[in-house]
Amino acid sequence: MTGRKKLFGTNGVRGVVNDFLTPEFVMKMGMAIGTRCKGRIAVATDTRTSNRMLKDALVSGILSTGSSVVDAGVTPTPALQFFVRSGGFAGGVVITASHNPPQFNGVKFISSDGTEASKEEENSIEDTYYSGDFVRADWNGIGRFSSDESCGDRYIDAIVSRVDVQSIRKRKFHIVLDCSNGASCYTAPYLMDALGVRAATLNASPQGTFPGHESEPTPENLKDLTKTVVDTGADLGIAHDGDADRAVFVDDRGRYIPGELSLALIAREMIRSRGGGIAVVPVSTPSVVEYAIEPFGGRTVYTRVGSPVVARRMMELGAVIGGEENGGVINPEMQYCRDGGMAAAKMLEIVAHSGSLSELIDSLPEFHTVKLKVEIGGKRPEAIISEIEKNASAGKVDRTDGLKLFMDDGWVLVRPSGTEPLIRIFAESREEAKARRMAEDFRKIVEETAEKV
Ligand code: MG
Repeated sequence: MTGRKKLFGTNGVRGVVNDFLTPEFVMKMGMAIGTRCKGRIAVATDTRTSNRMLKDALVSGILSTGSSVVDAGVTPTPALQFFVRSGGFAGGVVITASHNPPQFNGVKFISSDGTEASKEEENSIEDTYYSGDFVRADWNGIGRFSSDESCGDRYIDAIVSRVDVQSIRKRKFHIVLDCSNGASCYTAPYLMDALGVRAATLNASPQGTFPGHESEPTPENLKDLTKTVVDTGADLGIAHDGDADRAVFVDDRGRYIPGELSLALIAREMIRSRGGGIAVVPVSTPSVVEYAIEPFGGRTVYTRVGSPVVARRMMELGAVIGGEENGGVINPEMQYCRDGGMAAAKMLEIVAHSGSLSELIDSLPEFHTVKLKVEIGGKRPEAIISEIEKNASAGKVDRTDGLKLFMDDGWVLVRPSGTEPLIRIFAESREEAKARRMAEDFRKIVEETAEKV
């Protein structure tokens, strides 16, 4: 299929509202989804201002095919995912653009098993969208619409039943919780209450313009959180992105904890408690996860970048844990998807069982990662990467996603961006200066190669 725009990116369809993402477009997506996925479909949104407009369009499209809709309201993506699997739905749709700025929105399709759609499912929806071959029900066969407000409560109950609540309660945590004005406003404060955690909240009113800060949980956006943790002497801070599939932590010393460290910590404790097991992460993940779990019988399996890929590989391998370096933790004790609420509860359990979050973080092995991007204009990224591979001096090479070259004192990953005309470079070493030098060396190599191919 050439000439047609690819609709699905790494995590669903995303775009600027009323530009790419119009009500007409979303209604047609609803028609394609209803056609492919016959039965009851659960629908939810985050807090964005365009949600109502887009949800109504989506619902109209689905109902026209004869499939029914259960509206779960404003709720985190993982809460809807749990609702879909436990409620026996044929599928689910979340209207969300996750951590993107407020002018964006998106459509994320959830399979009947509660995981994010596979590439095959997305392609089949896309084929139907472009073919226009929609099921059109008779007037008396259109789908039924109903609402169910229990999604958030069911999600909270499920998390609470999967962690050591007694230990968490006994610890009498005092934390600061930043909901980023997103969907977690409806669940995270109540989850903390159910766990017996005293949570001072920031940006806990649902507002789709994200007035507190943009919904990506970066160190810059979480300055108020880190400051409040220090000012109030809190045990730790927790922040969620707009649709709350991610959780990012601040330790008791007010340090922003990069996602790979919180993932490594959760992975280490879960693998330690089981006496071994597999962790699944994308090839771009810093080595701290691998080195943290190895002494406890843990083995790391690397995949292509993208959380649906990680989740499905975890199912195949029966992995103990998986996730991404951005605060996305996939804990199969709960479900096979990134789940910010479950990650937060698990972290509280881990800290309740030991000292402080800062001590736990300081016990992890230290690595330094440098990330760069190089613009390549109209050049084909795969041609550039193949050329670099041909000229690379022999060493271990991994072609899972892009080109990963292992050297004596670290590794470099060169891979095309999924969305923009550029190549991303990741370099990692035990020493920061070395990582920086490796990244700069490869910037030159990519630029020079791009001129030749
Ligand atoms: Mg998200």
